[in-house]
Amino acid sequence: MSKTIQIHPSVDHGVKPGAPDFVGGTLTCKCEEAPVRVAVSSQVAHNHACGCTKCWKPDGATFSMVAVVPREKVEVRENGDKLAVVDAGATIQRHACKACGVHMYGRIENSSHPFYGLDFIHPELSAEAGWAEPEFSAFVSSVIESGVEPENMGAIRARLTELGLTPYDCLSPALMDAIATHVARASGALAR
Ligand SMILES: [Zn+2]
Ligand SMILES: [Zn+2]
Repeated sequence: MSKTIQIHPSVDHGVKPGAPDFVGGTLTCKCEEAPVRVAVSSQVAHNHACGCTKCWKPDGATFSMVAVVPREKVEVRENGDKLAVVDAGATIQRHACKACGVHMYGRIENSSHPFYGLDFIHPELSAEAGWAEPEFSAFVSSVIESGVEPENMGAIRARLTELGLTPYDCLSPALMDAIATHVARASGALAR
C-alpha cells in the first residue's frame, strides 16, 4: 500500500494509541503572538478522521482529526477576544481564531440536537500526548468536495482501512445509531 497517500500528519506514520490515564491538555492556536489557549480537562471520545469541508485541518492534510469532550470541560483561558464563530448558521458553531484561522472548539447550541452537550475539538492543537487515538473515518466521500480526484478514493479508503480508521461516508455505526435513538425517543417511536 502506498505511503504517499496523505491522510493527516498525526496518523501518516501510524496511529499512536492514547494513554488510559490521560486527563486532558491545553489547545493552542497557531499564532506566534498572543495565541488563543483553551483548556480541556477531559480525555476525548469518538476521535476520528473527518473528510467534510467544514472542519479545520492543517495544510496538506486530506482529513481533519476531530473528537468530542463534554462542553463543561472546555474553558477559554487566554486571548479569547480573538475568537469568532465561523458560520453562525451551522449546527456546530466553530469558534476560530480570527488571526490564524484555527478552529479552537465547535459547540452545538441547539439543546435538542443528539450531540448537544459535546464540544468538538482538534487534539493535535495540544502539546500533551495521550489523547485517545482515532477510531474511524467519517464523511470520507466528502474529500472530493475539497478537490480530491474521485479515482483516488479507492487508495484513500484502502489506506484508512490499513491504519485501522474504518472508512464511513457518514458517521460510524455507533454514532449513527445514537442519533437515530435520540430521534426515535423524541418522536415516541422508542420508549424512553
Ligand atoms: Zn491564532
Ligand atoms: Zn468534519
